[in-house]
Amino acid sequence: MRFGGISMSRRRLLKAGAGATAAFPLAALAEPNPEEALDHAEEGYAHNYVLDASKAADHPLYHEGQKCRNCAYWRGEVHGEWGPCVHPAFRDVIVNGNGWCEVHLPA
Ligand code: SF4
Repeated sequence: MRFGGISMSRRRLLKAGAGATAAFPLAALAEPNPEEALDHAEEGYAHNYVLDASKAADHPLYHEGQKCRNCAYWRGEVHGEWGPCVHPAFRDVIVNGNGWCEVHLPA
């Protein structure tokens, strides 16, 4: 059956494709699964990350008291003091709650 110059099967295909395209950005924004992201970020992993925030005392962007644990990107401990950070640069690792990096965002 044709409808407005497009066959019904083509219309269904286009509709399904639009749905898949609309669903992709939501999947991309999903928070990391801690079970899939248990690699621990090493010193210098990204954005001058340090395992202990006190090591960043001389960094021009560091402010007293900042650490992963009080950053808006932090999602809490899942493995000892380590947990997910939802900043795109840290999606594949977990970070230490006492760590810090230069994109720290006060929570
Ligand atoms: Fe830590 Fe925040 Fe940097 Fe993530 S963005 S590594 S939680 S300071």
